[in-house]
Amino acid sequence: MSRKLTEDELIRGFDEALANGNIFMNYQPQYNHSTRKMIGAEALMRWNDPDCGYQSPADFIPVLEQNGLIHRADLHAFEVICKFLRFCIDNNINPVPVSFNISRHDIFEHDYVSEIEKIREKYQVPVKFLRAEITESSTVGGIELVISVLNKLHECGYLVEMDDFGAGYSSLNVLKDLDVDVIKLDMRFLSGDLAGRGGTILSSIVRMSKWLNTPTIAEGVETLEKADYMMSIGCNYMQGYLYSRPVRDSEFVELLKNSQIEAILPSMNLIETMDAKKFWSPDSLETLIFSNYVGAAAIFNYNVITRDVEILRVNEKYARELHLDGDEDEILRSNPWNNHGAESRKIYEETMKRAIASGETETCENWRVINSKLCGENKVCIRSSIRVIGKNFNDYVFYALIQNITAEKVNYSALFDSERRFRFASEQANVYAWEYNIATKQMRPCFRCMRDLGLPALVENYPEAAIEMGIFPEECADDYRAFMKKIDSGVEHLEAIFPLTVGRIPFHIRYTNEFDENGKPVKAYASATLVVDGEKK
Ligand code: C2E
Ligand code: CA
Ligand code: CA
Repeated sequence: MSRKLTEDELIRGFDEALANGNIFMNYQPQYNHSTRKMIGAEALMRWNDPDCGYQSPADFIPVLEQNGLIHRADLHAFEVICKFLRFCIDNNINPVPVSFNISRHDIFEHDYVSEIEKIREKYQVPVKFLRAEITESSTVGGIELVISVLNKLHECGYLVEMDDFGAGYSSLNVLKDLDVDVIKLDMRFLSGDLAGRGGTILSSIVRMSKWLNTPTIAEGVETLEKADYMMSIGCNYMQGYLYSRPVRDSEFVELLKNSQIEAILPSMNLIETMDAKKFWSPDSLETLIFSNYVGAAAIFNYNVITRDVEILRVNEKYARELHLDGDEDEILRSNPWNNHGAESRKIYEETMKRAIASGETETCENWRVINSKLCGENKVCIRSSIRVIGKNFNDYVFYALIQNITAEKVNYSALFDSERRFRFASEQANVYAWEYNIATKQMRPCFRCMRDLGLPALVENYPEAAIEMGIFPEECADDYRAFMKKIDSGVEHLEAIFPLTVGRIPFHIRYTNEFDENGKPVKAYASATLVVDGEKK
C-alpha cells in the first residue's frame, strides 16, 4: 500500500533505507534546446519504501535536514553518483556532467569538500563530470562560509551552479558575491505570465547572466512553448518534463548511449581581451577605462531576428555627445530606434551587418532626432564606429564609439547649398561659372562648363590644364597666365575679355576674390559671359 511515511518513521527507517539501497538517485537529463544535444543531468534523491512506496523529496528532504541526517544522505548520494560515473567510464559510455545538490546543512560544521573529494578519489572520477548545486538559502547563516566552500570547490575543479535562482529576494545581490559558473532558473517560480512581469524578470536575468559570462539552465520546462520562449531570450539549456522526467540509472544509461552530447558553454563569447565580470563591476579597471578614458561610448545588444536594440551601458560622455540632458539611466530605458528615421535606421543596421561579417570596426554617419527636456527636438549627426564584442545565438553585443559631427555637417551642407544656388543662378543667367581655389589651383566648373566644354567636375592645375585643353588658345595663353597671377596675388576684382576655344569666341571673364580673416586670398569666383555687340576689351 502506498502511503506517506510519518516524520518518525522516516527518522527511524533512515539507516536501513540507506543500507538497503532504498535511498538512491534518479537522473534528469539537461539539453541544449537549439541543438537537442544532452549537456548534463541532475541527480535527484529518491526514497522507495518496500512497504509504503515512493516518498516525495518535498516530504523527506526537510525531515532529514531538520534531524541532522541530510549530511549523511548527501554523502551517500555523492558516492552513488561517483559509482555510476565509474560504471559509465568503465563501460565506454560517455557520461555527461552530473549535478549534485548541496544542502546548507552539508557545509555547516562539516569539511564537506574534503569529504566528497575523498569519495571522488576512491572512484577515480574526473572532476569535470561533477557539478555542485548550491541554493541561495544556503547563505542564510552567513555568506562567508558559502564563499569559502565555493572557493574550495573551485580549487578542486568543480563547476558550481546556483540553483533555484530567482526564487529569493536577494538574488541579484547574491550573484555579486558568489562566483558561480552556471545559473539555474526555475520556471515554476514564475507561473503563467511570460508576456508580462515574469518574462521581463526572466529576460533580464538571462541578459545579466550573459554579462557575467555565466550560462543559464531553465529548470521545470514542461512545454515546448516555454522552451522556445527561453531560447528566444537567450537561454538554450533546459531541464524539465518536456525533455525527460528524472529516470532510474538503468534508463539513464540507455539515454546516454543513444544521445549526442555537447559541453555547456558560457553564454557569451566575449573578445578575449575583455573580462566580462570585471567590466560590469563598478570598481574595476575596465569600468574606469570605459567611464574615463575612452570617448563617448555605449554597449548595446542587437538581435538579428527581432532587430531590437537594447542599450546595456553608456558612459557619461555618451549622453553629452548626443546632447542629451537625461542621465544614463534614462538612455538605458529608452528604445534607441526612436531616435532614428527609417533611412537612418537602415544605414545603422547595414553597418551592424558589416561589423558582424567583418569582425572589424565599421563606421557610419547618420542623423538622429534627439528629444531633450531642455532644448526640445534637436537633429544631430552622429558618426559611429561599432564593433562586435560578444555573440550569443541571435544576439550580438556591440561596442560603439560615437562622435557628434553636426557642426561639421551643417557647415558642409551650407556650403553645398550656396554652391548649388550659385550654379543654378549662373545657368539661368546664361553664364559659365566656376570656382578657383588659390592654394590648390583646383577649379570647379558649373554644369554648363562641364557640358559645353567637356570639363570634369574638378580640374587640377588650373589654368594650365584649361590651356592645354585649348579652352584658352595659344596666342592668349600668356595673357591669361598673367591674369591669373594677379588673382593669386590677391586682387579683389579682375576682368578681361578673352577669345575662347578654337572658335576664338570672345568671352567676358570676371573674377571676384574671397579672403580669409587674415586678408589672404582663398578662393575666387569666376564667370564667363558671351561678349555682346558693342562691348570692348
Ligand atoms: P531541485 O533541486 O530544484 O530539483 C528539481 C526538482 O524539480 C526535482 O524535484 C525535479 O523532479 C523537479 N522537476 C524537474 N523538471 C520538472 C518539471 O518540468 N515540472 C515540475 N513540476 N517539476 C520538475 P524533486 O526530485 O521532487 O526534488 C525536490 C527537491 O528536493 C529538489 O529541488 C532539491 O531541493 C531536493 N533534493 C532532491 N535531491 C536531493 C539531494 O540529493 N540532496 C539534497 N540536499 N536535496 C535534494
Ligand atoms: Ca537542484
Ligand atoms: Ca532547482
